[in-house]
Amino acid sequence: MPRPVPVVNRRHRTAPSEAVVIVGAGQAGAEAAVALREHGFAGRVVLIGDEGQPPYQRPPLSKAFLTGHLSVDRLYLRPAGYWAAHGIELRLHAQVERIDRRAMRIQLSGGERIGYDKLLLATGTRARKVELPGARGPCVHYLRTLQDALRLRESVAPGRRIAIIGGGYIGLEVAASAATAGATVTVVEAERGLLTRVTTPAIGEFFAAAHRRHGVAVLCDTRVTAFLGGERLDALATTRGNVAADLAVVGVGAVPNVELAQAAGLPCDNGIVVDEYCRTSDPSIFAAGDCTSHPNGWLKQRLRLESVQNAVAQGTAAALNIAGQPTRYAEIPWFWSNQYDYKLQTAGTFAGHDEIVERGERGSGSFALLYRRQGVLLGVDAVNMPREYMMARKQLSLQLLEGQAETPRAPLAREFTASRRAA
Ligand code: FAD
Repeated sequence: MPRPVPVVNRRHRTAPSEAVVIVGAGQAGAEAAVALREHGFAGRVVLIGDEGQPPYQRPPLSKAFLTGHLSVDRLYLRPAGYWAAHGIELRLHAQVERIDRRAMRIQLSGGERIGYDKLLLATGTRARKVELPGARGPCVHYLRTLQDALRLRESVAPGRRIAIIGGGYIGLEVAASAATAGATVTVVEAERGLLTRVTTPAIGEFFAAAHRRHGVAVLCDTRVTAFLGGERLDALATTRGNVAADLAVVGVGAVPNVELAQAAGLPCDNGIVVDEYCRTSDPSIFAAGDCTSHPNGWLKQRLRLESVQNAVAQGTAAALNIAGQPTRYAEIPWFWSNQYDYKLQTAGTFAGHDEIVERGERGSGSFALLYRRQGVLLGVDAVNMPREYMMARKQLSLQLLEGQAETPRAPLAREFTASRRAA
């Protein structure tokens, strides 16, 4: 079958014979494929994903999609015809099993081999599993993929008793969505408060109170020890007694998919190790997104981020570097979370602050906390205060540009080491 002619930006043409293979058709992989074409890459682009869906966004899976306010077709990152129209060979249900660096080709699980001039690893993360008695039962859910979300959505219904294990972003978003759908929800968190890995106690307490107001039972300092009831879940055994539940959702973090890189001999340390140009130790192999451990020029430390912002910006930077346009990946990390009517927006870091300046009114549900050290802004958490958030983000970006940031050295920013800590 003839391949469609790629739509290319003529600013920067590359040899049409070059081939870029992208492993992982998630946010970073898709973004990289799009950016290659937009920036004039004229060669072959193969985007390989082991899921059955064209590239889609994951954030709504715990939010509007779970409550039924967003349909599947609104999740897709590009319209169905986009990939072929831009000469991007999208291979779905295809798992890359091996990288042969010497022959410069990858091998799919069915045996097919595809050669590359440049390879981009955008393999993302997978949900961290809990190894407890009863944890493999059919009523114990995880949420990472569209398939997971479809399965979970079917099970969330008014009156159902849902226990969430983990009071991090994903657990709390699922709790909010399930409570909104009329379920009876309990959040079980091993730490003393919610969101401890990603923000300050003030924000964790604000969200704990918001969940309680919506009828969610929040149990902190509580560990799950078993899932009881066999095929039909009856309860969770915890260090504070049993919690009745028909369904459990585990949200205890994610593990980077590095095995492919590791087997190929590429250095990995809580992620595939790359430099600021998204290069691995092999000059023909790049990596981007949740799966990378990369240097952050602003924080002056290595990070592994799990955010759309990182996947988009790093995927784009990797594509530009592959296309021969040297581009450093240097960004202020930012993130958001929606729970009920609250939108939490966060940028920078809270680690190492010696002062918190509060804007707005916590009681009104619209406020921002500015984290500073020696008068220099380090980060912001804003709840329903987009203007304050944008101003702080702008200020952080200026610091990044000017290289003036006071950077926290110790302790290492907690929000960026979540997976390392839990490992
Ligand atoms: P992924 O999107 O995980 O894509 C990697 C893809 O590679 C996957 O499809 C995987 O199956 C595939 N793959 C792996 N190995 C292979 C292989 N060997 N062969 C073929 N394919 C392979 N971020 C935010 O910023 N804000 C939010 O509000 C937010 N909410 C979220 C809610 C949920 C429920 C989840 C799960 C995530 C959320 N995130 C959020 C995180 C965000 O979605 C991720 O940071 C982002 O998807 C990372 O993109 P990625 O391309 O690096 O990885």
